[in-house]
Amino acid sequence: MTEHYDVIVIGAGPAGYHAAIRAAQLGMKTACIDAALGKDGKPALGGTCLRVGCIPSKALLDSSRQFWNMGHIFDQHGISFGKAEIDVKKMIARKDAIVKQFTGGIAALFKANKITPYYGYGQLHPGRVVKVRQHDGSEVTLTATNVILAAGSESIELPFARFGEHIVDNVGALDFDAVPKRLGVIGAGVIGLELGSVWNRLGAQVTILEGLPTFLAAADAEVSKVAAREFKKQGLDIRLGCKVSNTEVKEDGVHVHYTDDKGAEQTLVVDKLLVAVGRRPATRGLLAEGTGVQLNERGQIVVDAHCHTGVDGVWAVGDCVRGPMLAHKGFEEGIAVAELIAGLPGHVNFETIPWVIYTEPEIAWVGKTEEQLKAEGIPYKAGSFPFAAVGRAVAMAEPAGFVKVLAHAETDTILGMHLVGANVSELVHEGVLAMEFKGSADDLARICHAHPSLSEAVHDAAMAVHKRAIHKA
Ligand code: FAD
Repeated sequence: MTEHYDVIVIGAGPAGYHAAIRAAQLGMKTACIDAALGKDGKPALGGTCLRVGCIPSKALLDSSRQFWNMGHIFDQHGISFGKAEIDVKKMIARKDAIVKQFTGGIAALFKANKITPYYGYGQLHPGRVVKVRQHDGSEVTLTATNVILAAGSESIELPFARFGEHIVDNVGALDFDAVPKRLGVIGAGVIGLELGSVWNRLGAQVTILEGLPTFLAAADAEVSKVAAREFKKQGLDIRLGCKVSNTEVKEDGVHVHYTDDKGAEQTLVVDKLLVAVGRRPATRGLLAEGTGVQLNERGQIVVDAHCHTGVDGVWAVGDCVRGPMLAHKGFEEGIAVAELIAGLPGHVNFETIPWVIYTEPEIAWVGKTEEQLKAEGIPYKAGSFPFAAVGRAVAMAEPAGFVKVLAHAETDTILGMHLVGANVSELVHEGVLAMEFKGSADDLARICHAHPSLSEAVHDAAMAVHKRAIHKA
């Protein structure tokens, strides 16, 4: 007999599991299908984010940061000890345990919310029929009143740099069993910078080749400048305007052939090569003939502002649709769609989605950059404040970076906040909150912030918009 559900979600990543849990909370009979297996070969829910993305990368960033601090920061505090050593296998095992804890946590949440999981590959057929090819080879046919497609994304593989033992994507770079002596990275985006930082801190000589002439073009230009300077100090060799044309795996390592920013042919030889040139929607094979769901030229599922595909009862959320490929964007879309299905208002405000890069220093922003405001002809005022003048940051030996607040020149409404420095992944939410409530720079400047705290930089940057920062000469 064909089982019928109110909601079937295909994909149990951040977007899919949020959609499934919220739908179940709202009283709908819900199933969620996911094909992924963990390192132990058993089904693992949670998607890219929990298995091979956000969480494992942050576990390794934290381990490598502790190691780096022992060699570079502890001495400033008067702490000395023998030479720091890293047991990579133990570090990876810690990361794997964290992943298992969280993927298991999603399975527990499904059980608690009475969501039926199906472990296998799901395909949408016309009429909201979903066929699941399970891991044991059997096939199940299900039907639903609503189907939410949350298939996520996968690494882009370059035709001249096929993944294998020496050339890897994020999955491989989160699982090296030793610190590579020389690590090459193609792509100075979020993933390249974060994973490049991990292995650089642990002692690898890291070279990042970026095709674009500008470093971190999506970020505010002043933020990118400070970040580039700090990364250079840490020994990250970031080469801009470099177009990789071929790779060869040889006895002495991977030979990466590229044209540099002056047009000269170059070869970089590394022990491991991480290809981090972006991700594409994992929509191949998701849709059977005749569903009516459209894919655009990038393979993204075409949806409207409410994540509806235009086909009755079929929705799509997360990395497989337009918008930033961020877990929290997927969370919000998943929740919004479940609420819309239940007849409630559901909405995602793309203007206030925070962006974070978890390097050292961290980089974060929300809203528009100065460059965007200028290009759009929006009159604005800027106020910034350096962490070097914040007592708490200096006490923490984290003086690098600054906070910048951008406000409309006439209304004073906050239009953007740009941060580079310690813990700015947390501080950026002051900007998110202020912008959600349509707050002004003056509102933020008049809110009492604890002293000493890093958030004083946000407060003083808001005060600086009106040229009244107390601690600025
Ligand atoms: P996914 O997480 O990709 O999940 C989709 C799931 O659907 C997968 O489990 C897949 O197996 C399954 N699936 C696909 N097709 C089918 C099918 N036909 N049948 C059954 N199952 C299917 N984002 C952040 O916001 N913060 C970060 O710090 C961050 N760090 C990252 C670090 C790395 C190294 C990487 C690679 C990504 C990172 N991201 C981060 C991005 C984040 O992981 C993604 O934006 C997020 O996982 C997208 O969620 P999703 O639910 O749309 O898709």
